[in-house]
Amino acid sequence: MQRLQAFKYELMPDGQQARQMRRFAGLCRFVFNKALALQKARYEQGEKKLGYAGLCKLLTEWRNGTETPWLADAPVHPQQQKLKDLERAYSNFFAKRADFPRFKKKGRHDSFRYPDPKQIKLDQANSRIFLPKLGWLRYRNSRDVLGAVKNITVSQSCGKWFVSIQTEREIEQPTPQGGVVGIDMGIARFATLSDGTFYAPLNSFKRREAALRKAQQALSRKTKFSNNWKKAKVRVQRIHSRIGNARRDFLHKTSTTISQNHAMVCIEDLQVRNMSKSAAGTTESPGRKVRAKSGLNKAILDQGWAEFRRQLDYKLAWSGGHLIAVPPQNTSRTCPSCGHVSKNNRQTQAKFECVECGFEENADVVGAINILRAGHARLACEVSGAVMPPAAGTHRSDSGVAQCRA
Ligand SMILES: [Zn+2]
Repeated sequence: MQRLQAFKYELMPDGQQARQMRRFAGLCRFVFNKALALQKARYEQGEKKLGYAGLCKLLTEWRNGTETPWLADAPVHPQQQKLKDLERAYSNFFAKRADFPRFKKKGRHDSFRYPDPKQIKLDQANSRIFLPKLGWLRYRNSRDVLGAVKNITVSQSCGKWFVSIQTEREIEQPTPQGGVVGIDMGIARFATLSDGTFYAPLNSFKRREAALRKAQQALSRKTKFSNNWKKAKVRVQRIHSRIGNARRDFLHKTSTTISQNHAMVCIEDLQVRNMSKSAAGTTESPGRKVRAKSGLNKAILDQGWAEFRRQLDYKLAWSGGHLIAVPPQNTSRTCPSCGHVSKNNRQTQAKFECVECGFEENADVVGAINILRAGHARLACEVSGAVMPPAAGTHRSDSGVAQCRA
C-alpha cells in the first residue's frame, strides 16, 4: 500500500535567504489577496468566478505587466499554488466545509509551496535542500526522509523557518495489532477507552492562559510598532507557539499509543466543526447560553478533538487498522447492562447509575462501551450486507448508519 507522509524540519537560512523567503511569502500572499479581491469584484458585478486556469493566465499577465513586475522576482510555481489554495478555499466554502475565504494577513501562516519535485534537490547526507531561487538551504536533520519527494512547503512561525517535505512510498500491507476499543471524548477526561483506561486532558491553553492574557495586555499598552511593542509581540507569539507545540506533542503521543495497540477504534461522530462554531450565533438567530458554550467550545478547540480524530484515522490506516465513526445518539444515557435508556441514568457529569437495574460505572466508561457496541453493530450490518454491501467496507461517512442501527 502507498503511504503519504510529511517530514518537517527547521531551516537554518543565512540572512539573504531569510530575506528572500520573507519576500516570497509576501508575494504569494499578494497574489492570493489580489485573486480573492478580483473574484469578489466579479461576483458583485454578476460575473462568473474565474477557474484556476483563468487565474494562472492572469498571474502571467501580472508578472509580465508594468503594474506589478516585481512579482516575477519570486518563482512562479508557489504563486500558482496560492491560486490553487484559493480554488480549494472556494470549493470548501461552497461545500459548507469552511467559511468564506479571507484575505491573508502578514505574519499569519506565512508559507509557500513548491509543487514540482524535479526542481528540488534533497541532500540528506549533508543536511541541506535545494530550492528554486533560494539555492542550498541547511536544515536541522532530526530524522531521515523516507520515500520519494512529492512537494515541499516552506513556512514561518515565530520568526523561525520550517520546511515540510511531503513524500510517497510503497510499504507492505501491515497486519493490525490488538483488539477493538471504543473511545469517549470529553472535557474532564480527554479520552476514555471502553476498557477503562483514560487520558487526562492536557489543557495546555488553560495553563498558559493567564500568562498569555498578561502578555497580551502588556502588548496593548505599548505604542504600536515601537521597539517595546515589537518585543511584547514576540513574547505573545512565543507563548502561542509553546501552547501549540505542547498540544501537538500530546495529541501525537496519545493517538500513536491508541492506534498501535488496537486494530479497530470506534469513536463518536461528533460534528466538531458545528460544536465549535461561534456560540454567539448570528443577528437573525442569536445563540443561547453563549457564555457556557463558548467555554465548552474553547475546551474542545484547546484539546484539538478534530485533529486527534484525523491523526487516529491515518495512524490506524498506517498500522492496518480502522477508525469507525458512530452516531452519538444516547451513548451517554444507555445502560450497558440492561439497555435501559434514560437521561436520569446520568445523575452527574462523572457518575452513571441505571435507574432500572442499578448498574454503576464511570459515565465516560459507559459512553465508551456504548460507542464500542454501536461500532460492532455497524460492522455486523455491513458484513451481513443487510443495508450496505460488504464492499462498502468501513467507510467513515455516516450515511446509512441510522438505518443500520434501527
Ligand atoms: Zn440498567
